[in-house]
This record gives sequence, structure tokens and C-alpha cells, in this order.
Amino acid sequence: TAKGSDRNNVWVYDVELHEQEILQNYIESHMYQALRDKEFRMFLQPKFDVRTGRIGGAEALVRWFTEEGKMIYPNQFIPLFESNGFCARLDMYMVEQVCRQIRKWTDDGIEPIPISVNQSKLLFYEEDYIENLCGILEKYHIKSELITLEILEGLAVGNMEELNRKIDLLKEKGFRISMDDFGSGYSSFNILGRIHIDELKMDRVFLSAITGEEGKRQEIIMAQVVDLAKRLQISTVAEGVETEQNEALIRRLGCDYGQGFYYSRPVSTVEFDEKYMKIKRGSAANE
Ligand code: C2E
Ligand code: MG
Ligand code: MG
Ligand code: MG
Repeated sequence: TAKGSDRNNVWVYDVELHEQEILQNYIESHMYQALRDKEFRMFLQPKFDVRTGRIGGAEALVRWFTEEGKMIYPNQFIPLFESNGFCARLDMYMVEQVCRQIRKWTDDGIEPIPISVNQSKLLFYEEDYIENLCGILEKYHIKSELITLEILEGLAVGNMEELNRKIDLLKEKGFRISMDDFGSGYSSFNILGRIHIDELKMDRVFLSAITGEEGKRQEIIMAQVVDLAKRLQISTVAEGVETEQNEALIRRLGCDYGQGFYYSRPVSTVEFDEKYMKIKRGSAANE
């Protein structure tokens, strides 16, 4: 009966809500301990130069390995950390992991590749953000040219001049600035002309609906975004490249880089080294 299924629905809803609550509570009560005990680990996902097929860099993505042996994905905790302020600390921790990795490659005689790291909007409101950032790089003797800072287009809502002032300071220090998830929200082409970014990452929504009528339309938009970015001398990355067809499309559109499951999922640093940094170690040893 209708009554029975209603009750059933309410029951299901309650369970999900309850589990969600348990997870949120766990996250908020364990985050400090987790940071201290190194439960947050950096995974790396390679990004490839579409023209040459060579690896062009990697993106650092956080994973939480709890003491109970579970892995939690960032979508489960990043939004919460953004609202409780913890994200600023976690992001700086990730910057440190990035620097450690580049230092390790360098010490092992491997030519380092650039790494991108996601930066919460909270950081851009912190007075000593740039100072802290540079402090970490100095500690590991890392060139800022190897670090790309990924920001979300949402940051541009608000004081664009203030944001550009921060971006210019960061660029003066040598960092590259990338705009992440472009096209996922209320993006506007206007932003491209106004924010001083070096790189544009096109959200995977463009590629996710690439078949049928909507696909044709998305393709037209994507072609325009790539063209526009090129003319503004902003390099382009396609996110969510999952299939051979996706790869063929971004190649045809003249996109500079591709990132996605078609090439590789995000992997641990050990796996990343084995898969992508070994050859360089070999050639370095032969010199
Ligand atoms: P993002 O920065 O846009 O990162 C790309 C996300 O897309 C990653 O999810 C990645 O695993 C996923 N992805 C990559 N290729 C494909 C593909 O071909 N298909 C599909 N469906 N997905 C793909 P992940 O690692 O779960 O991270 C989710 C989001 O969490 C990130 O999106 C980023 O916004 C945030 N995040 C991750 N690590 C950090 C961090 O250290 N700090 C901050 N502030 N945010 C982070
Ligand atoms: Mg990103
Ligand atoms: Mg993205
Ligand atoms: Mg994202």
C-alpha cells in the first residue's frame, strides 16, 4: 500500500541520514588526530601533453586512510573542512607533501615534473598565506616554477581586484595559477579575460555528455573555450578524459593537456614512481 511504501521510504531516509551523521561526527572529531598521525596521504594523477603523449605533470589529491583501515574520499570531508576552517591547514600540509615529493625526486637524480595542488578559497583570505607557502618551498629548496596552484572559479565571485592582487603576488614569486573545474558552475567567459590565470582546467561535464545532441553542443562550447584560452595565452587541460573517443576529441580541439581515467586514476606516490618516474631514473643513471 501507499502507506507501507511511505513508511519504507522514511525508514531508508533515516538510515542514510544517520550514517551520514556518524561519518560527519567521525570526521570532525578525528581530523586533528588524523593530521598528526599522517592519515592524510597524497595521491598523484598524471596529466599528459596531448600532442607528444608525454607526461606533463601531476595533480596532488588527498586521501584519508583512517586507523580502522578505511579510505575516505575528499568529497566526503573537503566541504566540511571548508566550512569549519580546517581546509587551510590540510592544504598547507598537502603543499608540504608536494614539496617533499619533488625534493625526493631531485635527491634520487630524477628530473622532477610540475605538481598541481588544490587550494581552498580560505587560504586566499589568510594574511600570511604567501609567506607560509614560500616558507615551505624554502624548507625543501624547491623552485616555485614546479608548483601550480589550482583555484576554483567561485573565488572570482566577490572582489576580483583583490583576488588579482594576490594572484599577481603569487606569480611574481614564480607560482603558476590554474582555474579548476571551469564550466561546472556559473562560469562566465568574462572571468577568463579578467583573472590573471596561466591555465584553465575544463570540467569533466564537457566530456561526460559527449554523445547525442547534447554532446554536439558541448563540443561546440568546448572548442570555443579552447580557442579563447589559446588567444588569451592560457594553457588548457581537459578533465575527465575517460575514453579513446574523449582523447581523440581533445586532440582534435587542440587542447594542451589531458587528465583522466583513460590515462590513469590517481595513484599512491609509490605506484606513481614505478609507473611514470622509473624511466627517467634509468636515463639519469646512464649519464
Ligand atoms: P578536482 O581538483 O577537480 O580533482 C579531480 C577529481 O576528478 C579527482 O577526484 C579525480 O580523482 C577525479 N577524476 C580524475 N579523472 C577522472 C575521470 O576520468 N573521471 C571521473 N569521473 N573523475 C575523474 P577526487 O580525488 O575524489 O577529488 C575530488 C575533489 O576534492 C577535487 O576535485 C578537489 O576539488 C577536492 N580536493 C582533493 N584534494 C584536495 C586538497 O588537497 N585540497 C583541497 N582544497 N581540495 C582537494
Ligand atoms: Mg583540482
Ligand atoms: Mg577539477
Ligand atoms: Mg573538483
